Amino acid sequence: MSTTATTVLPLLVEEVEVTAVERLSPSFVRLWLGSPAFAELDCDGPTYDQRIKLVFPHPGHPLMSVEGFDASWYDSWLSRPLEERGHMRTYTLRGSTGRGRETRMSVDFVLHGDGGHGPGGDFAASAQVGDRLVALAPRRGHLYGGIEFAPGDASHLLLVGDETAVPAIAAILEQLPADARGSVFLEVPLSADVLPTTGPDGVSVSWVPRDGGPRGTALHAAVLDHLGRPDALGLAESVADDEVDPDLWETPEYSSSGEQVAAETAAAAGDRWAGCYFWIAGESKTVTGLRRALVKELGVDRRQVAFMGYWREGVAMKS
Ligand SMILES: Cc1cc2nc3c(=O)[nH]c(=O)nc-3n(C[C@H](O)[C@H](O)[C@H](O)COP(=O)(O)OP(=O)(O)OC[C@H]3O[C@@H](n4cnc5c(N)ncnc54)[C@H](O)[C@@H]3O)c2cc1C
Repeated sequence: MSTTATTVLPLLVEEVEVTAVERLSPSFVRLWLGSPAFAELDCDGPTYDQRIKLVFPHPGHPLMSVEGFDASWYDSWLSRPLEERGHMRTYTLRGSTGRGRETRMSVDFVLHGDGGHGPGGDFAASAQVGDRLVALAPRRGHLYGGIEFAPGDASHLLLVGDETAVPAIAAILEQLPADARGSVFLEVPLSADVLPTTGPDGVSVSWVPRDGGPRGTALHAAVLDHLGRPDALGLAESVADDEVDPDLWETPEYSSSGEQVAAETAAAAGDRWAGCYFWIAGESKTVTGLRRALVKELGVDRRQVAFMGYWREGVAMKS
């Protein structure tokens, strides 16, 4: 393995190797990734939902070289033909172990059992020790961003996600202070995908397996029931497929729709949700349904919420 970027970039853009493969459940596989460059991986503070990028080789083609990448690396990468540059996708830094050049990063991949095929899911499904890919990750001492979990001084948390957000929520749970309070709802494909989690006693964790049921429906109902609105519209009634923005991303700092973060909704709802922080991620239609219910019906202030479309059914993510 070699560190191939010749310029010191403010992030790691490195060829890495699969060092171990752990099948966690029918729908999850954990890959451990290693590179001497991980001596500089910034994983010292809380990583929470730290996102990273992985570049998978195009089937039948060699992995791209990151040799000589400089400040304009992204444009130069993008200008290459797809077969050469491969496919960039977003994942979560699930954890890390080891020190220095022996530092290993873990990433929990969802196997798309009930969905379409994509380069990321396919790579994970067949991954073996020694397989190589490129990772973009935070470099110690440099600003990287990519952590959205920001509860401030909230006294109550609600974390909701589908299987693609299980790695982020599991990592957040492990890093919460012992006195944190709140609730977690996690949708997974199968009952057998319920994974062990570690977190504060004051944060309850509810798993919502689909077990062949429609995506998002039971999760939507469980969350609204928890919020005291069992009578609210179901997911199918509240969002039409053609209304879904595949790139939905609404946080206090950024809105993919350009919507202003409004304070009026909080005023309308009085102080019912004061002290609450909501973090919701997963398939974009599911997240859209919960966003509508929370912001439009329950009057939750957008400054207290991160709504993140991690992927969209039927849509390949952009490289
Ligand atoms: C911040 C962030 C963090 C993420 N963290 C993780 C993570 O830790 N682990 C993880 O597995 N995913 C994670 N994701 C989601 C992941 O990026 C997407 O699922 C991505 O589409 C996978 O790429 P792909 O190449 O497998 O599929 P794509 O080429 O993007 O899509 C091909 C087809 O597969 C379908 N598809 C994509 N994902 C799924 C799925 N999960 N189940 C069923 N069908 C699917 C698409 O709808 C499409 O039809 C994260 C996304 C974001 C934005």
